[in-house]
Amino acid sequence: MKEARVRFAPSPTGYLHIGGLRTALYNYLFAQHNGGKFVLRIEDTDQTRFVEGAIENLIESLHWAGIDYDEGVFIEDGKIVQKGEFGPYIQSERLDIYKKYVDQLIESGDAYYCFCSKERLDAVREEQKIKGLIPKYDGLCRGLSLEEARERIANGEEYVVRLKLPANRDIKFHDLVRGDISINTDDTDDQVLLKSDGYPTYHMAVVVDDHLMNITHVVRGEEWLPSTPKHVYLYEVFGWEKPVYVHLPTVLNKERKKLSKRHGDVSVDDFRSKGYLPEGLINYLALVGWSPEDNEEILSMEDMIHKFTFDRVSKTGGIFDKDKLDWVNGHYIRSQSIETITELAIPYLIESKLIDKDFAEKNREWLEILVDIVREGMHHMSEITDKVRFMFDNHVKVEDEEALQTLKGEYTKTILDAMKQELDNVEEIDEELSNKLMKNIQKATGIKGKNLFMPTRVALAGSLHGPEFAKIIYLLGKQNILERIEYVEREYL
Ligand code: GLU
Repeated sequence: MKEARVRFAPSPTGYLHIGGLRTALYNYLFAQHNGGKFVLRIEDTDQTRFVEGAIENLIESLHWAGIDYDEGVFIEDGKIVQKGEFGPYIQSERLDIYKKYVDQLIESGDAYYCFCSKERLDAVREEQKIKGLIPKYDGLCRGLSLEEARERIANGEEYVVRLKLPANRDIKFHDLVRGDISINTDDTDDQVLLKSDGYPTYHMAVVVDDHLMNITHVVRGEEWLPSTPKHVYLYEVFGWEKPVYVHLPTVLNKERKKLSKRHGDVSVDDFRSKGYLPEGLINYLALVGWSPEDNEEILSMEDMIHKFTFDRVSKTGGIFDKDKLDWVNGHYIRSQSIETITELAIPYLIESKLIDKDFAEKNREWLEILVDIVREGMHHMSEITDKVRFMFDNHVKVEDEEALQTLKGEYTKTILDAMKQELDNVEEIDEELSNKLMKNIQKATGIKGKNLFMPTRVALAGSLHGPEFAKIIYLLGKQNILERIEYVEREYL
């Protein structure tokens, strides 16, 4: 097999959609699995949809996700640069290349100039709709002679160039996921290839670029499947070998609808800012439409590369299940080093003003213990704030009714008095004492088990359940505990 070459070809029209990230991921996994090359190309021929900063954001998002590519568009020292022998990789810098191939199609009679105004096209479409026909170009300009067309152009008339599809021909191709596909040209429009602003359409540019960049496999979302016959036809008239096609099932939500902004998070940035780890998001996303043969669900990038093949990509929509994502991401929150997770937690704690930068720098070890005792039940990092809030306010809040009853129970006063006495004897609570303190109080008071632990936990941490109590005692330290006891006695007892 010749060297596999794939590409991810986003349009810089906003932010990277989660479905786009999955397309990039499958391209990457395929290239890596086969020792091939992966290209990042920017498809910006629709200048009206260009969004400032979108290219940078795309690159940054791929980088964050751990998806590397070999050629194309990169950022170096804050600047967009291009690398590789098939450049430029930004379509708006390739206009003369497209022009050359459009001219070639005109010469060979496979494309024609069209002067129809937007008003005329709208009227034609309207009429077709009324008649119950599929709206498409009616072919008015197909018959114009080249001389006549060139004269009209010389007179300054606006024009586009359209593909001249033959009538009633089946265009066939094979898709690695969807199987054999055949579409009749009568059901297909004479696609515009070159727009009146001199830019090619996506359809023209994608074929020219995939050919010139030696792309062997076109891996993209299935929304492009209906366009593929036009592309296949273009390969035919140019006499080029067409790539292998792989159309991926659309990423759907649980209601089997396309993921949309209206229904929650869709951009990689949304997930990133919620505190999903790249490893978690990528691992889960790989499973939306693909599964390894052994059905393993926790997979590192290396595992995925090793196991990835297109024959395990499903035909039908990949369901994006937030709960499953949370489960996978939770696994990574628990399994990554505590240094890494604390590093990720700190920005959330600073943003919520629980701590500031200075505190984070001076109390790293303290924060690591804290993050470690709460990470067990977390799904994404932004949950950290609510998990640790109770540690930062000595005015203990008790919201739960059962907890309040426990706090107001018969043992609390005795326990807290004993605790104060225990702490009277020490400068500070070291690790050893934090492990022994409750035992000591038990000895001093004769109260044990639930009767001892529940009221104490509520008094110091505000709730009946929570992270390892000895660690909480250690992290709070003597002064905070005494303040909490004083507050609880005043407010609740
Ligand atoms: N520019 C297209 C997009 O934004 C790429 C489609 C393709 O991969 O051919 O999705």
